[in-house]
Amino acid sequence: MKKPVITVASGKGGTGKTTVASCLAISAGQPVQFLDCDVEEPNASIFLKPEFTSTKPVSLEVPDIDYNKCSFCGKCADICMYNALAVAGDQILTFPELCHSCGGCWVLCPEKAITPVPREIGIIESGPAQKNIEFWQGKLHVGAPTTPPVINAVKNEAVKEHLTILDAPPGTSCPVVETLEGTDFALLVTEPTLMGRNDLDLAVQLARKLNIPCGVIINRSEEQYDIIEKYCKENSVPVLMKIPQDREIARVYARGTAPVETVPHLKEDFKNMLEYIERVTVFERNSSN
Ligand code: SF4
Ligand code: SF4
Repeated sequence: MKKPVITVASGKGGTGKTTVASCLAISAGQPVQFLDCDVEEPNASIFLKPEFTSTKPVSLEVPDIDYNKCSFCGKCADICMYNALAVAGDQILTFPELCHSCGGCWVLCPEKAITPVPREIGIIESGPAQKNIEFWQGKLHVGAPTTPPVINAVKNEAVKEHLTILDAPPGTSCPVVETLEGTDFALLVTEPTLMGRNDLDLAVQLARKLNIPCGVIINRSEEQYDIIEKYCKENSVPVLMKIPQDREIARVYARGTAPVETVPHLKEDFKNMLEYIERVTVFERNSSN
């Protein structure tokens, strides 16, 4: 049976998304591929403590100008939407850090004076982590223009046979969409505040737009604040788990340890939730066939 691809996402940062993703991986009780796709700030390694054994560069193609062929017509600068090229008299200024590698300039250059050359924008690191977890993370270099190529490169490393858990970037913009593509289930982490509800709503709408079934974990849950439960009821989104506001959990977290390692029952709760998600994804797959 194909194992599901689960993306742990949140409408905003600071909800405990990475902690939840790490707890899910540790509790799974089966081989897991863990992909940290939060490439601007990957930090799941704090909880899963992988031993990195491999590093690969991720590159984008940027233009290299052959001045012997260039007629300084300016067409390349005109086409570039990102201002990565400028023609000034008989000079071409290139700003590779702005180039999104759309290819427009080298396709349009009438003199064939532009050759695409690779420029490293990030790296992928990988290696084994605890408890049968194979860990990958993408790291975008500072100043690199775009995150999706690094996210894609991380995702391309995954093999199909194992349970795959992706830690998405925060928010609901392009990098999150890129991470969610090909996902079987979106696990949305939120907290019981007005802001949490608003951002959760954006994340639910995004998952629905992408046709991905989703469920919610309420982190730092307090019984008297049921704002998220009300939202979920009104919008038919299942609440899969509530992690209580708890001093012991906060203390363990601050030490860089996943709470499932020390807090009784949490591991079982995560395992049960995973079983539910596996059942939902099998059902969804069967009904779409
Ligand atoms: S389009 Fe080609 S020929 Fe024209 S300025 Fe750019 S590199 Fe030179
Ligand atoms: S490849 Fe696209 S983004 Fe990069 S310099 Fe050329 S036109 Fe601009």
